Amino acid sequence: MKCPFCGFANDKVVDSRESKEADSIRRRRECLKCGKRFTTYERIDEIPYMVVKKDGRREKFDRQKVLNGLLRACEKRPVPIGKLEQIVNEAESFVIESPERERKTSEVGELIMNRLRRYDKVAYVRFASVYLDFKDVKEFMDELKDLVKTKEAADVKSSSGKRSRWARRRSRDRANISPKN
Ligand SMILES: [Zn+2]
Repeated sequence: MKCPFCGFANDKVVDSRESKEADSIRRRRECLKCGKRFTTYERIDEIPYMVVKKDGRREKFDRQKVLNGLLRACEKRPVPIGKLEQIVNEAESFVIESPERERKTSEVGELIMNRLRRYDKVAYVRFASVYLDFKDVKEFMDELKDLVKTKEAADVKSSSGKRSRWARRRSRDRANISPKN
């Protein structure tokens, strides 16, 4: 902890005690350079980090909710759970690092999409269909076209029938997903 008197970055803790309510710890520190003492308090960071929805409503950033969304998008897709956890961690860091302690859901969604896209295109499109708003529809359609093209190329090589099953699956997925923000 930087010394408030001389700015030196090293100190030793000379006394440490918990508050009566046990909700904070008070530490007396001594600067290793100038020898002056100062006090720090440690307490649990209780102010929530928020996400701001399109209509302006705020809600607490919820790791589990993000993970659930990813799990839904990756259902029956070959994406390791470790990768999803990594994406959740990145989303969380993104929100926590905001100076205002909040981020727009659209920004968080975009970050998640960009990560997901690297791992699995189908999961990406499923996730994107929840998050993208109207201005991104063209981009979304381009992505879909690419996906269908890739899929068709693969189907020509192998047997037919897979494509229609895939298409049915897609429309069912879309029907299940309702925009959240
Ligand atoms: Zn000092």
